[in-house]
Amino acid sequence: MTRKQSPTRISRRIGRFRTERRLILLAILAIILFTGWRWIKMHPEHDPTAPLDLNHPVGFATATKVSALRDDVPACRAVLERSEVAFTALDPAGEGACARPDRTRLDDYPLAPNTPPVTCAAAAALELWRTKTLAPAAQEIFGTGIARIEHLGAFSCRRTYGTAEGPWSEHATANAIDIAAFVLEDGRRISLIADWDGDDNEARFLRRAREGACDWFATVLSPDYNAAHADHFHLDQSPRWAGVCR
Ligand SMILES: [Zn+2]
Repeated sequence: MTRKQSPTRISRRIGRFRTERRLILLAILAIILFTGWRWIKMHPEHDPTAPLDLNHPVGFATATKVSALRDDVPACRAVLERSEVAFTALDPAGEGACARPDRTRLDDYPLAPNTPPVTCAAAAALELWRTKTLAPAAQEIFGTGIARIEHLGAFSCRRTYGTAEGPWSEHATANAIDIAAFVLEDGRRISLIADWDGDDNEARFLRRAREGACDWFATVLSPDYNAAHADHFHLDQSPRWAGVCR
């Protein structure tokens, strides 16, 4: 025979059950938050507040942090130092539209025939492009590394497409670089002019190179963009004009 319970006792029981359920939910929430916090502290690449290190794997927060370097030279140079990327900060040069207050030259980067100074933001993007895009793509597709990256120039005091009236080119401040070819460690040379078209390994590599550049640079123009870029990738870090990847 079951004992009859008074309505007050039942409602007290329900009340206690509700309080317990609330406490359990709070405990679960606290565990989830703590686990998430600990996970993000162990994965700074996903943490928007963690200092950027170019050696970390790529995470949810990486691209945002890289693009924030476009208008913060001291922060950008601090990132290169933290990431142990060797560079030289050269004296400012030029004047007017072609003034270059930020001339950052990577000391140990396989650019050929030389390594021109570029803006720090462009230097950081070049480093990420080499380590996160080009080296893994070359290894995966050809089973070898990148020996040289051939460029056509970074600084050029001119307007876009050499017009007399148009906006100044990102090359006017060396916030851009034009890349023409890659030489692999086994001596093979892959150039945009000779290898862009087709679906062989060389063309696949060049497409990977372009897609990867879009992760790090503000603007990427390839042979798909227009005939003026048939023989090179134009890569720049314009803070005003971002998002072109073609
Ligand atoms: Zn260019």
